[in-house]
Amino acid sequence: VSLQPAPSFPLFDINTKEVLGGGRFGRVHTCTEKATGLKLAAKIIKARSAKEKESAHNEIQVMNQLSHVNLIQLYSAFEARTEVVLIMEYVEGGELFERIVDDSCRLTEVDTMLFVKQICEGIHYMHQMYVLHLDLKPENILCVNKTGHQVKIIDFGLARRFRPREKLRVSFGTPEFLAPEIVNFDFVSFPTDMWTLGVISYMLLSGLSPFLGDDDSQTLNNVLAANWYFDEEAFEHVSHEAKDFISNLLIREKSGRLSAAQCLKHPWLDNIAEKAKHSHICLHSQVLLKKYMARRMWKKNYIAVAAANRFKKIGSSGSLTTMGI
Ligand code: ATP
Repeated sequence: VSLQPAPSFPLFDINTKEVLGGGRFGRVHTCTEKATGLKLAAKIIKARSAKEKESAHNEIQVMNQLSHVNLIQLYSAFEARTEVVLIMEYVEGGELFERIVDDSCRLTEVDTMLFVKQICEGIHYMHQMYVLHLDLKPENILCVNKTGHQVKIIDFGLARRFRPREKLRVSFGTPEFLAPEIVNFDFVSFPTDMWTLGVISYMLLSGLSPFLGDDDSQTLNNVLAANWYFDEEAFEHVSHEAKDFISNLLIREKSGRLSAAQCLKHPWLDNIAEKAKHSHICLHSQVLLKKYMARRMWKKNYIAVAAANRFKKIGSSGSLTTMGI
């Protein structure tokens, strides 16, 4: 996919009334390719400054290198004066965690194996292509549809190419999903994504966020000290293999963590079809995840309202310099 100038825009009908999601950099809408009627997703990234443009170009460049069933595919890309538009494959199943808490059927450990295996396959492919995602979190795992188990990783906004001799330092992301090396402003590498796979697996199985503290600084301290444990009640029906899988990812030292290739060979993700015949026990995680999602929604709304209020105040005093969430 090459970046086209804005006049090519009319090739697609972007449905600005249907918002699929929004984040730091813009909004995602449904859209239709006029020539084929194909339903797609359009991510409109605000790019006013050269730095913002460069970051959007990076997202396109990274996505251009990737083609895998568990990674969202870039379809086309356009640039206008203040926006960059990414036209992507559309998936209708919503966020994985939303889907799980919505489900009328209950979640078993085999369901989580199926989800984690695909996330792992997506990561394995990315790492083979020398790409680090660096922003894996539950919100960035989408379900292909409302009933099946197929998932795709999205949001390559912070992804970058790993160069063996380049020492890459980054500092961004959501505190509870950050690896210790990111919090420490240390060098990131393939194991950085593997840590987050450990956090996501822990959450899918238990509904609890392993490092979440009362506030961000407590969360970050927990991450830095790799301070986590298996909650007895939440992990009551979880297998030893699953716990071993997580224990081999949530390791402070990068070199101690399993690679994506090793994860795919781990006994927990092996022979899932056979395990499915005997897996009937429902996990506690659905109920706890529901609470987690409700808290997350509350926090998001709270931040949005606080930001709007701050904006109003700053607006009336005429200064924008101190604004920030
Ligand atoms: P963030 O600030 O959370 O990183 P972002 O601005 O980088 O967000 P994305 O994470 O790429 O944007 O997308 C925001 C949301 O839009 C996603 O959480 C998802 O709900 C929805 N979304 C993104 N891409 C697609 C897609 N291809 N199909 C369906 N929904 C999508």
